[in-house]
Amino acid sequence: MAVFKPENVEDFYEIGEVLGSGHFAQVRQVRERATGTCWAGKFLKIRKNTCSRLGLDRSSLEQEVEILQAVQHPNIVTLKDVFESRAEVVLILELVSGGELFDFIAEKENLLESEAIEFMKQILEGLGFLHSKNIAHFDLKPENIMLSDKAAPHPNIKLIDFGLAHRFHQGEEYRSTSGTPQYIAPEVMNSEPLSTAGDMWSIGVITYILLSGLSPFQGETDAETLRNISVMNYEFAAQYFSMTSSMAKDFIQKLLVKNLNDRMTAEECLLHPWIKPITRKQVAKRNRSSINMKNFKKFNARRKWKMSYNMVWMCNRLVRLKLLCKGSSDPDPLQRQCESDAEDAESKPASLLRRRLSSSS
Ligand code: ATP
Repeated sequence: MAVFKPENVEDFYEIGEVLGSGHFAQVRQVRERATGTCWAGKFLKIRKNTCSRLGLDRSSLEQEVEILQAVQHPNIVTLKDVFESRAEVVLILELVSGGELFDFIAEKENLLESEAIEFMKQILEGLGFLHSKNIAHFDLKPENIMLSDKAAPHPNIKLIDFGLAHRFHQGEEYRSTSGTPQYIAPEVMNSEPLSTAGDMWSIGVITYILLSGLSPFQGETDAETLRNISVMNYEFAAQYFSMTSSMAKDFIQKLLVKNLNDRMTAEECLLHPWIKPITRKQVAKRNRSSINMKNFKKFNARRKWKMSYNMVWMCNRLVRLKLLCKGSSDPDPLQRQCESDAEDAESKPASLLRRRLSSSS
């Protein structure tokens, strides 16, 4: 059982600038008073009672903590400590200061497939390790793939956000409809039993986007996206994939497979010739092919814009609701709450929301 320290986090850490926010958490840079070392503090609000719609169940937080404690790998963010007060839990995590991989790539003028593969390899190594421990991440998307230091000659990938991760026990049947529509596997959508193969589908989607700047199943609405996934409606349109090698397409095709038992595993991916070429011809092909940078930049700019728009929209709406209900004029504590409330404010298709309460074993 994970240890949640009852002490006040501020006695040990100085709280600094906001690094990022998600649906459930605000992440801030924190400085350890004893050593001066900087970490990332992930502040998560706990649900006060079962009727409350604000915050997270303590059990869901315990799961995130236990999983993080079970995995120590160079490509997975490290958990240092956990503090708990009446209202929130604070995870002290390794500070991942290089930003998101997609932002790093979008700043480049061009990128060869062979360079993109160096990142894919690290993602697959982190994932392979996770899967070897029977843990699935279940929320792989560009926002959760970060770099430890983008100034390094070979930046190191760090997978973050284990809020939806699940550790499978022998013979267990686990279903969950949580996830982000663009990246979820058909079995998640259909509320079927899940396995670590769910992450491999997301890797297929992420690779497709990385190479073309196009999201394979993205529709005008989430409902349309989900329909596209269910009928496996995707193609390699020549106008977007003209610079892509046939090996890369083969790699994606072996991941975007409806039957989860037929999808490549992380281990198999690492042996696929696109990742690990055997012949000189294969090496040359990777060096001749590049990612569609023009379209990738467009995709990333749209993605960032959408993230900011959603954040502002949700916060504004929540602040308005709260002010109406309470007649309060102090917006500050609300800002931390707004992300936890986002799920209630959004109107996405029925159960396919990014939340932690829909899982069942
Ligand atoms: P989501 O809405 O995706 O579920 P969440 O509420 O679980 O998110 P995280 O994804 O863990 O929260 O963190 C939110 C953001 O904070 C991340 O997108 C990232 O920008 C930043 N962040 C998270 N962990 C770290 C870290 N260890 N170092 C630096 N920044 C981090």
